[in-house]
Order: sequence, then structure tokens, then C-alpha cells
Amino acid sequence: MPVICQTPPEREARVRTAACEVTTGPGYVGSLLSPTVPTRMTWEHDCAQLILLVERRLVEQRAPRIRRLADELLDASPLALEASRFVQEKNLVTVPPLAADVWLMRMMSAEAQKTNPFFLGGDDIIVSYPTDTMSEDEKVQALRANNRHFSRATVFHELIPGHHLQYYWRQRSNRHRILFETPFWIEGWSLWWEFHLWDLKFTSTPEDRMGALFWRAHRCARIIFSLKFHLGEWTPQQCIDFLVERVGHERASATGEVRRSFNGAYSPLYQAGYMLGALQIRALYTQLVVTGKMPEKDFHDNILKGGTMPIEMVRVHLTQEKLPRDFKPTWRFADP
Ligand SMILES: [Zn+2]
Repeated sequence: MPVICQTPPEREARVRTAACEVTTGPGYVGSLLSPTVPTRMTWEHDCAQLILLVERRLVEQRAPRIRRLADELLDASPLALEASRFVQEKNLVTVPPLAADVWLMRMMSAEAQKTNPFFLGGDDIIVSYPTDTMSEDEKVQALRANNRHFSRATVFHELIPGHHLQYYWRQRSNRHRILFETPFWIEGWSLWWEFHLWDLKFTSTPEDRMGALFWRAHRCARIIFSLKFHLGEWTPQQCIDFLVERVGHERASATGEVRRSFNGAYSPLYQAGYMLGALQIRALYTQLVVTGKMPEKDFHDNILKGGTMPIEMVRVHLTQEKLPRDFKPTWRFADP
């Protein structure tokens, strides 16, 4: 029996079927859709559609082999499952089965890696790794920058309990708060888990600890170089040199990191939001969970279900404090 494959030869198409929505395009992963579930496709700027009639037997023969090959090459699936299982076994946060089971992994193109040298996440995980159109030197640098031990500290930041779990809840709970999105909540949450899983001994081998500490140093460096640039004190080249010399970045990934920070795609405080947001959540955790006022799972679930907002507002939400009309931020989280 033949099956129909549809894909845009350039640009992207959005496919919505049942509760799942995926974006597809050249080089992305494919999904097999049930012919009995209603499906809606939206093609970006009415882009061209490539429609192929393929023998079903061939798709079934090749799909598992390609999937296995991708897993072996990228090796992100075991990393993703590891942290997801860890937080569920320790009862740290609710992981709904749909969030745990449904996520996509796709490859960052060589062009995109020039501004995104590391893994990215959200609805799905995008993997930065050597590709066939890179020079030999670029391939080696991409491989070093995203080696397994460095990636172990970022895969759960991007998936579960990090951004993928946030995105799951923000589409389902207090959606209106997306209007007030702030990097202190988005990135602070994922980096809080880097702190927390470190404290809970998720990272045990010397190589994995080096990977986690590399990222810890980088989160600090992000505050320094991004603020220095925005205050007019450093040039982009000085920022790149700082990342290479003080954090130990590859020159290609340091350059990509600086391009990403200043190309207008992120707000000026975005890079500071990671570490400062995480320190705020850590102070809140100490105040509410360590003192026994709130069970750990409720603390995490309520942050997710409350939606994106400044962490001082998360504090008000969790402690049920009454807000006066002329409320002004006063919380000194670094020195409570
Ligand atoms: Zn992030």
C-alpha cells in the first residue's frame, strides 16, 4: 500500500493533528500521521509542496534504521530520559505523560549554528553538532563544544524538567501571562534545575562534573560580557576573547554566542536572566521548601502552572501575599 509524503522543499509547514503541533521543513524529522485523525497543514507564505507517493513497506523498513542511526549519532535521547526519570523518581515535579513522551529532536543547520553554537530547546530539542557543510576545523570545534559531558548539563535544561516542561504548561495554564514573558522566569527555571540536580548528586562522574561546571562558569560570564557590551565598555571582539580566555570556549562557539547575544533576537538583559533568575528561585526554595512551609513538588508545580512572570511576582503568588495598588519591588533575594 503506498503512503503520501508531503514536505516543503524550502521554508516551513505547520502540521496540527489531534493535540500535537509540529513544524516541518527540509532536513527536519518526519512523523507518520494516522489517516483517521483530522489534520490541518499551514504552509509558510504559500510555499511550494513536494508530494511523493512512496511504498509503505519501504518507509517501515527504513524508519527504524534511520531513527537508530540518529540516536547513535546524536546520543541525546538517553540523556533526555535520564533526567526526566530522575525528577520523577525523586518526586520533585509533576511530569505529565504527554510532556514526557512527545518531543521532537532536530538538527541545527550549519548556518544556524553560527548564531546558536549550543543546543536549543522549547517545544522540542535542537541539536548543534558537526554537519557535512562545515569545514573540518568547524566540525572539530562543534564536536568539542557539544561533547557528551557538556551536553549532559544542557539536555535537561532544554527538555525535562527545563524548557519543554515550561512550554507544556504555558500552553495549558494561565496562557495570558505569555504577554509578560521574562528571561528571569524562562531561563531562571531551567538554570535552577542545573543548581538543584547538582546538589542532588545527579552529576557524579568527574567528566560530567566538569561539563556542569563549564556551564556554571558560562552563566556567570554571560552576565559580565553582555552588560559590558550594552554599557558600551566592551566591543564584541573583547567579549569573544573573554569567553575563550576565561571560560575555555572554542573560538567558533564563543563567536556564535556573542552573535546570538547582540543580533537583536534577545533582549539586553536576556543573558543576565539565567543566573539571576536561578538565584531568585533558589532563595525562594530556601524560604518555602527548606523551611518546610511547602512540599517540593507543590513548589515546582505551582511555579509552572502560575505562568511566566517576574520571580518577585512568583514569590507573591506562592506566599499568597496581598498586593497593595502601589506595590514596588523590594525583595532582596541575594541577602534575604
Ligand atoms: Zn535556556
